[in-house]
Amino acid sequence: MTFSLIIFILIFLIAVNYFQLVTFASLIVGPKIKTNTIIDKWIINTIKYKTGLVLKNIKIFHDKRPYAMMGGIYPFPILIISEKMRKLFNKDEMEWVVLHETGHHLLWHNLEAIIIEGVTISLGVKLIHLLQLNIFSSGLLSIFFSILAVQIIRYGIEYQADKFSILRVSDPEGVITAQAKLKKYYKDSLFNSEKSLLRILFHWNISPGLRIKMAKMRYSS
Ligand SMILES: [Zn+2]
Repeated sequence: MTFSLIIFILIFLIAVNYFQLVTFASLIVGPKIKTNTIIDKWIINTIKYKTGLVLKNIKIFHDKRPYAMMGGIYPFPILIISEKMRKLFNKDEMEWVVLHETGHHLLWHNLEAIIIEGVTISLGVKLIHLLQLNIFSSGLLSIFFSILAVQIIRYGIEYQADKFSILRVSDPEGVITAQAKLKKYYKDSLFNSEKSLLRILFHWNISPGLRIKMAKMRYSS
């Protein structure tokens, strides 16, 4: 029973938080990513002007992949942007990114993610006890619950952050061109294709197509 629980929790945490785990692991093992803190006046002022949030600085991860993340729990934001994304994205594209990340912070998304994952794990643990599941069934249940949690996170968190940012960007065209850049950059990733089953099942983000649709709706409003 103990092993069943360990397998369930381990598979769940890895499947649901794969991207975050890989990124933070690469700060301490393997070819380590260097980090530093910068004061980018344009980013800080954009966030302040559009949302009211005052950031003191921004953490840069010197990574070759383009991404951004919002760390910390409200009211302590830690905006992380990869060096690659800073170089690759123009101002309109970057505005979408930083407003998306600010949305995560202002809408308490990190806490929400912890609660979604915590509740799902508790339900799984209860079920394993109740049904006396063996290791194999616990593994299967874990995969099923991981998919469920990712879907809740996609529409309860990522979709909300895109809604928050796309409503506020100065030029929605930046949202559209950013999707093309991300697509090109992650073309070898298993998660890249919008129709890839892995993406649909395990990727937090909404599809680039849906983001483009949301950006286009800004033109007609
Ligand atoms: Zn996000």
